[in-house]
Amino acid sequence: MERTAIYLTTAVGGHYLASLIQMSLHRVVGHRPLGGPIHRIHMLEHHGIYSGDALVADTYSEEEKSSTQYYAAPAVALAAAAYATLPVDVFVVFVAAISASYTAHVYVHTQYHLSRSWLRRFGWFHTRRNLHYAPAVRRR
Ligand SMILES: [Zn+2]
Ligand SMILES: [Zn+2]
Repeated sequence: MERTAIYLTTAVGGHYLASLIQMSLHRVVGHRPLGGPIHRIHMLEHHGIYSGDALVADTYSEEEKSSTQYYAAPAVALAAAAYATLPVDVFVVFVAAISASYTAHVYVHTQYHLSRSWLRRFGWFHTRRNLHYAPAVRRR
């Protein structure tokens, strides 16, 4: 395969892999007692601050601790596995892709909870925002 095609496949694959890992961790660790302290913190802080009628606010809450630390361990493990198996240039593309994917995910998620997000004009944003609100609405 041509190098450009390999890079592109790696970037797209990295994005999907990072999304899959985040989604699985959120569901299994964040929303089940199995997650222990992470589960409690996630329910209390994130879904505690943003629940019921308070799913959106004018500014994103500063009280909520960042969840980045919880994703650090799986990210390092994933990067180590990639480093061990991929050629170094493909590894660099992979790490850049998962980092960009994570950053975009965090950014869009913050926008979900803002009442005046600039992303409101996009249909996909509404669809995903409603999906994100679903667990909070169900618990009421
Ligand atoms: Zn959650
Ligand atoms: Zn949220």
